[in-house]
Amino acid sequence: QLSERLKTIASYIPDHKRVADIGGDHALLLTHVAREQRLHKGIVGEVNRGPFENARDRIKLAGLADLIEVRLGDGLAVIQPDEVDVVVIAGMGGALIANILEAGKEKLAHVERLILQPNVGGNRVRLWLDENGFRLVEEMIVEEADILYEIMVAEPGRPQYRAEESLGKEMVWEVGPLLWEKRHPLLHKKLTETLAGKQKIYRQLSKGKTEQAEVRKQELERE
Ligand code: SAM
Repeated sequence: QLSERLKTIASYIPDHKRVADIGGDHALLLTHVAREQRLHKGIVGEVNRGPFENARDRIKLAGLADLIEVRLGDGLAVIQPDEVDVVVIAGMGGALIANILEAGKEKLAHVERLILQPNVGGNRVRLWLDENGFRLVEEMIVEEADILYEIMVAEPGRPQYRAEESLGKEMVWEVGPLLWEKRHPLLHKKLTETLAGKQKIYRQLSKGKTEQAEVRKQELERE
């Protein structure tokens, strides 16, 4: 009953690790890994009280409260440095994921693996990884109910793909290098959708006259 998207994310969580799921909401991901008997310790972080209570109740009901802790707080603030080996952030926009990583950078010094699934704005996530000493080790696109989800797995290390300085960096990172390398069958569709989305926003911004709209429009022109 676990979605294809969450199953794929779960498959990238190595066995017997300490895992934080930031924005874990329903707690389905870590519950699944725990039931597979391959979770050492889990932390579900939630910034909103509703999902926090939902996660806590589900974990209790599943009898997993000893194994999975649910904590209320913003992004990586819920974990201590060196408390987890793996961090998952899934089901949010790429800009938000990048902001969460940036705000909690110091918590990532001992993390072995990041598993990230931006709903949109994958370029923001790749750019952050590239600029902060993480290299992509796996990328995937999963299609579910006609929606395409990008999943990125990164580990500390020298980035293997240097964005061309002459091009807009955010544009370069629109294309997942590992998706490109394996000629992922859904890459073309994903890029077409991303472009269509940007064009739609651009058209809407063109109608408005605020300064903010103008700034965003110029950003999109560069992207
Ligand atoms: N990760 C789950 C998944 O992929 O199915 C849930 C995704 S849900 C759409 C996004 C969740 O992230 C929401 O429950 C929201 O409350 C939470 N969230 C948003 N910003 C957050 C932040 N800064 N820190 C922690 N959780 C956050």
